Amino acid sequence: MEEKVKSDLKKIFGFSQFRGNQELIVDNLLKQRNTFVIMPTGAGKSLCYQLPAVVNEGTAIVISPLIALMKNQVDQLNAIGINAHFLNSTLTKSEATKVKNEVLKKKTKLLYVAPESLTKEENIAFLKEAHLSFVAIDEAHCISEWGHDFRPEYRKIKSIVAQIAPHLPIIALTATATPKVQQDIQRNLQMEEADLFKSSFNRTNLFYEVRPKVKNESKKALIKFIKQHKGKSGIIYCLSRKKVEEIAELLKVNQVNAAPYHAGLDSAVRIKTQDDFLNEELDVIVATIAFGMGIDKPDVRYVIHYDVPKSLEGYYQETGRAGRDGLEGHCLMFYRYEDIIKLDKFNKDKAVTERENAKILLQEMSAYAETGVCRRKFILNYFGETLNEDCGFCDNCKRERETFEGLDYIVIALEAVKQTNERFTLEHLVRVIRGEMDDYVISYKHDALPVFGIGKEESDKHWTSVIRQAMIAAMLEKDIENYGHLKLTPKGQEFLEAPYSVDLYKDHDFEKLAETETQD
Ligand code: ADP
Ligand code: ZN
Repeated sequence: MEEKVKSDLKKIFGFSQFRGNQELIVDNLLKQRNTFVIMPTGAGKSLCYQLPAVVNEGTAIVISPLIALMKNQVDQLNAIGINAHFLNSTLTKSEATKVKNEVLKKKTKLLYVAPESLTKEENIAFLKEAHLSFVAIDEAHCISEWGHDFRPEYRKIKSIVAQIAPHLPIIALTATATPKVQQDIQRNLQMEEADLFKSSFNRTNLFYEVRPKVKNESKKALIKFIKQHKGKSGIIYCLSRKKVEEIAELLKVNQVNAAPYHAGLDSAVRIKTQDDFLNEELDVIVATIAFGMGIDKPDVRYVIHYDVPKSLEGYYQETGRAGRDGLEGHCLMFYRYEDIIKLDKFNKDKAVTERENAKILLQEMSAYAETGVCRRKFILNYFGETLNEDCGFCDNCKRERETFEGLDYIVIALEAVKQTNERFTLEHLVRVIRGEMDDYVISYKHDALPVFGIGKEESDKHWTSVIRQAMIAAMLEKDIENYGHLKLTPKGQEFLEAPYSVDLYKDHDFEKLAETETQD
């Protein structure tokens, strides 16, 4: 078996060796074990199920959220001689019947299925008849409401697979999963026991930068940046179709070889734009987030967010399209707090919890933009990783930063966590430290604690930033089992026993930065 795996890797896929965790993952799945893969975009997730599908007897089911990409992937597999098909709503009845017959004849190695098609009675009946090897769930973060791309149909997958073949191994794959999303996925798929293969999210070749967004100035800065990267491929993300059109027009007027891309455009136009970009006939795509999923252009040199994204996960995913070839990629975001408020207002018609969730994601996004901490440290902390040293390759690391002595502040923050018995969120801790009364403070008698009101001289923002920096320094951690309550880590406990001097970074004041930018 091992021999066949190695030889098929080379013979069929044309790769001389495995990358990262691929070999361990393939082995694990071939042992019929439930497998959970977290790997950044571009690292090579597809091979983790395609190779076992080829080696195994029977058909592997691949559940994938994007109908548009299914055909692409199936075409690519067919081109290297693998028998693969897809089943989704774009097929006519007779086409679907043909696909099903191939599967029943045990010819098909991979069958891509849209989650909507999986839930259809007739398809469930058909899959019960088929000889299946395993189920792969691509983009598994779609299961979680805490992810950036929630798809309600994804939550039905487990119960349907249980109907079809209860003991079929499952491999779930995603490029973005905070610890919370990861837990959500495992619970929903009832695969808490699955073996987890998590690669580091550190994309060392990406440079992260945030600049204040100022009327007129930012447009000039945008054009200047693009001209400095003349002839290089880049993607610019905007939130609305209207903005996409506007920026694309602006660039064209300024002799930049750019085109817009959004869901409101004719599909023929979209396909042409995408092809032109891939074929280097177009330098810059100005797009809504509709663009990019599954685009594998290795030499995208920069990704610019002209508008702030809705979550740090989305941001990571979108910037991840830069520098897939391992060479430098520049990730630039234009930020102003007003955009965060605007995004929050868009959610006003959503259900209360949904809006609350979205708001928390937005707060993380704005904290990232405003932080003075190494951006890579901040991002990796969000994904549950600790980076011990500053990266030296982000705007914060490169610039002079204002620091202040953090010892006393951190003692207060950690004391607040300890005195409230590690059972409260960041927001509540800030209220306790600042001595603000609310229902929780009253019912838990937090106004009687020694830390209550001890930090009222400093702002909300100050304390939020201190607590976040204590998290990034791994003195505090979020308890994902319990609503994101903050807990002391061993390092935090040691600090409280014997506090030491710590440099903390001031957050950027983007309003002020914006003013100084307009003046000169
Ligand atoms: P992901 O789904 O994780 O974003 P893909 O599966 O699309 O990534 O793979 C990204 C790129 O890496 C593809 O061009 C793929 O051909 C290539 N690749 C995957 N595995 C290997 C390997 N073992 N050796 C060389 N290239 C690989
Ligand atoms: Zn850095």
